[in-house]
Amino acid sequence: IWQAIPQGPPDAILGISEAFKKDPSPKKINLGVGAYRTEEGKPLVLNVVKKAEQKIINDPNENKEYLGITGNPKFNALSAQLAFGEHSPVIREARNATVQCLSGTGSLRVGAEFLAQHYTVHTVLLPSPTWANHHKIFPLAGIKDVRTYRYYKPSTRGLDFEGMIEDLQRAPEGAIVLLHACAHNPTGVDLTPEQWRGILRTVQQKRMLPFFDSAYQGFASGDLERDATAIRLFADAGLELLLAQSYAKNMGLYGERVGALSVITKSADVTKRVESQLKQVIRPMFSNPPRHGAAIVVEVLSDPSLYAEWREELKGMAGRIMQMRQELFRALQQVGAPGSWNHILDQIGMFSFTGLTKEQVRVMTDKWHVYMTFDGRISMAGLSSSKCHYLAEAINDAMRS
Ligand code: PMP
Repeated sequence: IWQAIPQGPPDAILGISEAFKKDPSPKKINLGVGAYRTEEGKPLVLNVVKKAEQKIINDPNENKEYLGITGNPKFNALSAQLAFGEHSPVIREARNATVQCLSGTGSLRVGAEFLAQHYTVHTVLLPSPTWANHHKIFPLAGIKDVRTYRYYKPSTRGLDFEGMIEDLQRAPEGAIVLLHACAHNPTGVDLTPEQWRGILRTVQQKRMLPFFDSAYQGFASGDLERDATAIRLFADAGLELLLAQSYAKNMGLYGERVGALSVITKSADVTKRVESQLKQVIRPMFSNPPRHGAAIVVEVLSDPSLYAEWREELKGMAGRIMQMRQELFRALQQVGAPGSWNHILDQIGMFSFTGLTKEQVRVMTDKWHVYMTFDGRISMAGLSSSKCHYLAEAINDAMRS
């Protein structure tokens, strides 16, 4: 039956890790996948996560029964609070249908399937560029008309704010607009609060439906409140919107697949009906989500001392990334890499958009064993002080090849 099946293409990001594993060079560096590494290049399990796991294991009432279709109710309530804020009118008025899903990706997918079934406008606008998976998730879920809006301006290595507004204004009335809540992936370029207000006005004028993707709350700036500014601005303005949250980066729960989807409505009554329809999407897709990761999140978010410790650990991770930006910037200047490198300092979050071309990336990988995506993106979280100079040399060489 399968004799003639064609080979599928390697995943743009996960394929890089596979190639990295096969490379025997001791010099190799993996800056492809967005996963936090310690200064020693090791994956990190947060202390608060270890403590939460101990509490869960020692709890005599803990078991391995199925969760309900929408997951752990405490997890859902705490996740909504984390994103929208303790005093959010959305939460006070019970206007959020929040359901536990399989990390950020699963939350986006459930949200997109829900929209395909219950929202009339099947057009989604994605930023250009964006995380590659966005381009697949929406059409596969049934939102077939995928368009892009201008976001990154190569000439300034910053935001194309005018282009973004123009493209949103040209979009069909009511279109879905995907917005990265903070730490835009892959560019690391974010909007200022003033620019977010401009986008909010346009979204309101065009009656668009915002779908926030929040994969980096607290991880971008080290401050959970600050990284939720855009979400809260839109929610507090009374908009109906969707939000996909991931705990992969900010709690280091990558493989546990913990996330939440919230659909914000106009009333508690509508919320109940929306939730009943989200169940209809989830039940035949994965029936119910896994317990363990959500239980960890509940412990961390509900225990004041664990919560305080988590905030410190988050600051530690975000701080190390910012320090890597400084060190790489200095190393690039030392080796005399051509051009200005201020963007390395200005960009936010896990990634830097270096500006390297596809050909230059090939030199980085083939000659220098530096693994990164072909769009020139590097994960700052995968870098360490001891590797900054080597990386700067590789970039300098690739640019002059
Ligand atoms: N959205 C964006 C923008 C991301 O960068 C990521 C992680 N790379 C995700 C969503 C989802 O990741 P996960 O499914 O691991 O939570």
